[in-house]
Amino acid sequence: MPIQTDPDQASCLDWQRRWQQQYPGQWLLLPLRLSARPPEHIPLPWGMLALANCADPDVWSEQALTNASSVAYELSIAIQQALLYQKLQLANQELRLLALSDGLTQLANRRRFDEHLHSEWQRLTREKKPLSLILCDLDHFKLYNDHYGHPAGDRCLTQVAQTLMQVPQRPADLVARYGGEEFAIVLPNTHTQGAWQVAQKIHDSIRGLYIPHPLSPLTGSDYVTVTMGIATAVPSRSETPQSLLQAADLALYHAKQHGRDRTYVHAHFNL
Ligand code: GH3
Ligand code: MG
Ligand code: MG
Repeated sequence: MPIQTDPDQASCLDWQRRWQQQYPGQWLLLPLRLSARPPEHIPLPWGMLALANCADPDVWSEQALTNASSVAYELSIAIQQALLYQKLQLANQELRLLALSDGLTQLANRRRFDEHLHSEWQRLTREKKPLSLILCDLDHFKLYNDHYGHPAGDRCLTQVAQTLMQVPQRPADLVARYGGEEFAIVLPNTHTQGAWQVAQKIHDSIRGLYIPHPLSPLTGSDYVTVTMGIATAVPSRSETPQSLLQAADLALYHAKQHGRDRTYVHAHFNL
């Protein structure tokens, strides 16, 4: 229902009076109400459409009132739809984040890792810049679970994940849970030397947590440690990210074979 303001009218509502004080003159005010739920309930106005009659300030014809009401109605619907769309977009964003993060550690999950590695591979193919990958595996983690139980193992994984997340610094770097007790760190625009430094920081940070691991067969360590494999390549169209993954995995395998709690670099994927 349109309201025609009248500066002389003393009986007007409080908000009308405030409007009048701020914007003197004769206005046609149309409250914009978004959908009523339940239908019999009239919601408070979401906002207001204020029209000034520029042609003949004293008169709003019946037709003008009808037209203005229609405009206000259409506007309410458009605003309502825009707000719903905004809500939907936020919900979709949250859903996407959930679908791409690991439930236990909140790190990027394997799917997000695959997507990121693939897109960085494409980007660095164009830029002809190096891409490094670190695969990081907790040492003798089965024995950790055997000793402390699975829930304690979960807490350990979460603690390690939080620590790993703090090591790489650049926005395009990604730390992901690759699977089980394995993590992957994607380091775009990074040569092997840089990845090596990141790996050493990871060793130091994990050792610095001093998480007891009494069953660890490693000599000289009763704490949780990690073993890592590094591979670096300048991506190209003739290769796939899979080759980098395999190379890092092979380096990790050799590091394990040579005693764990250390990092190996793949001999050919070393730039
Ligand atoms: P290695 O030093 O050779 O890597 O030995 P490992 O025991 O760490 O590796 P293995 O592959 O033999 O076992 C992995 C263990 O990681 C076994 C599994 O129970 C544990 N694990 C994997 N995912 C989870 C998890 O989500 N939570 C817990 N608590 N443990 C997990
Ligand atoms: Mg493993
Ligand atoms: Mg392991």
